[in-house]
Amino acid sequence: MVFKTIIEPFRIKSVERIRMTTEAERNQYLHDAHYNPFLLKSNQVVIDLLTDSGTSAMSSEQWAGIMRGDESYAGASSWQRMESAIQDLTGYPYILPTHQGRAAEHLLYTKIGGVGKVFISNTHFDTTRANIEYSGATAIDCPCPEGKYPEISHPFKGNIDTTTLLSLIEKYGAGNIAAVILTVTNNSGGGQPVSMANARDVHTICKKHTILFILDSCRIAENAYFIKHREAGFEGKTYREIAQEMYSLADGCVFSAKKDAFANMGGFLALNNLDLAVQCRTVLIITEGYSTYGGLSGRDMEAIAIGLEEIFDADYLHYRIKSTQYLADKLHKMGVPIMMPSGGHAVYIDAKAFYPQIPPHEYPGQALVCGLYKVGGIRCCEIGSVMFGKYDANGKLIPAAMELVRLAIPRRVYTQSHIDYVAETFEGLIETKEQVHGLRIVHEPPFLRHFTAHFEPVTLSSGVA
Ligand SMILES: *Cc1c(COP(=O)(O)O)cnc(C)c1O
Repeated sequence: MVFKTIIEPFRIKSVERIRMTTEAERNQYLHDAHYNPFLLKSNQVVIDLLTDSGTSAMSSEQWAGIMRGDESYAGASSWQRMESAIQDLTGYPYILPTHQGRAAEHLLYTKIGGVGKVFISNTHFDTTRANIEYSGATAIDCPCPEGKYPEISHPFKGNIDTTTLLSLIEKYGAGNIAAVILTVTNNSGGGQPVSMANARDVHTICKKHTILFILDSCRIAENAYFIKHREAGFEGKTYREIAQEMYSLADGCVFSAKKDAFANMGGFLALNNLDLAVQCRTVLIITEGYSTYGGLSGRDMEAIAIGLEEIFDADYLHYRIKSTQYLADKLHKMGVPIMMPSGGHAVYIDAKAFYPQIPPHEYPGQALVCGLYKVGGIRCCEIGSVMFGKYDANGKLIPAAMELVRLAIPRRVYTQSHIDYVAETFEGLIETKEQVHGLRIVHEPPFLRHFTAHFEPVTLSSGVA
């Protein structure tokens, strides 16, 4: 028989207590945290959907590996294991271990970046953009048109727009393009996948113009799932073979092991080119650590090597993508406006459509984030005008293009009943949706304000900015 129920393909060996709280307690905690869930303590949270980064549950194999970790300074067996796991997967010979993904970005992008250089990506992740701009170079996002509209359904909304890519190469000159970076899946664009056809096109364009092609491959296993099930010609391939084919098209990759390697910390840079690897390795030794551990302890490297194998398990990937879709489908059926189709690691809610009465300068996304915490103790993240809003010369808010709220799903952490509870929280929010007001910012730092800003609820909406 064919089962409708998809079960978690693991048993639970060790558990972590969730402290249950009352709505009255949460109202107090939220008030004390200035209505910014980043300022909450983790034991005040019932279900934590703030991020999927570094929050995975490790397997008993990974914990066993942690006990085997070899902490030798040079040439540790744990390093050899991690290095060959990455070489086997990516096909790249030169592997540089780092303490997380952004450190790998820093090594490569400061080396090839600098004033006058241009990077082009489907969408630069925020640490990617920050590293590029910090070097003095320019980062240009070039997503495919379908990726810009939450309500449009398309199998590969994460693709780069190759027509615009070609015109940008024409405009800046191939010699000034430091790299084309394909982010798979496209995190900032909603965890949407990139097709193999798109990666092949980028490969051809980069070869023709002698431009470096880098994969930001933190979620390449999740991306491979979408290719196998949505792109013709890949039905018979394994997820690992699909990932290997995509790696073979690029000249190297950056990777955060906090995503598709189930590790709590770690990352790496992997390259085809020896000269470039040698230059990056010099910076690695100065800033991260010796070349056979980077910023990592032996036990971390052991966990990453094992995680990189486990992530391609077909039963796991099926459960992973289907369980994200399960939440998306439930919310969609309840009439909650979400980004369609759902991506790999998160569900994005269109807060502007959920609370049409709240104007952008009273932050509908933040209102939803606070509502989810008050009603259900759920912590999640606003991706809208709090995160990306800017002020004009008169101090008036220039809102972000979209007011989204991200529910990121940690890997192997929550069960179906936790997710049902999240959906039920929305039922509560829908009942009182019309009476909800927004918030105003009463304190903010000059950069990355979403992490530390203080808010205050507004009781009467002013309607205009
Ligand atoms: C998380 C992430 C990074 C940065 O990795 P860290 O380990 O958080 O430093 C880079 N790119 C993408 C697409 C990511 O999701």
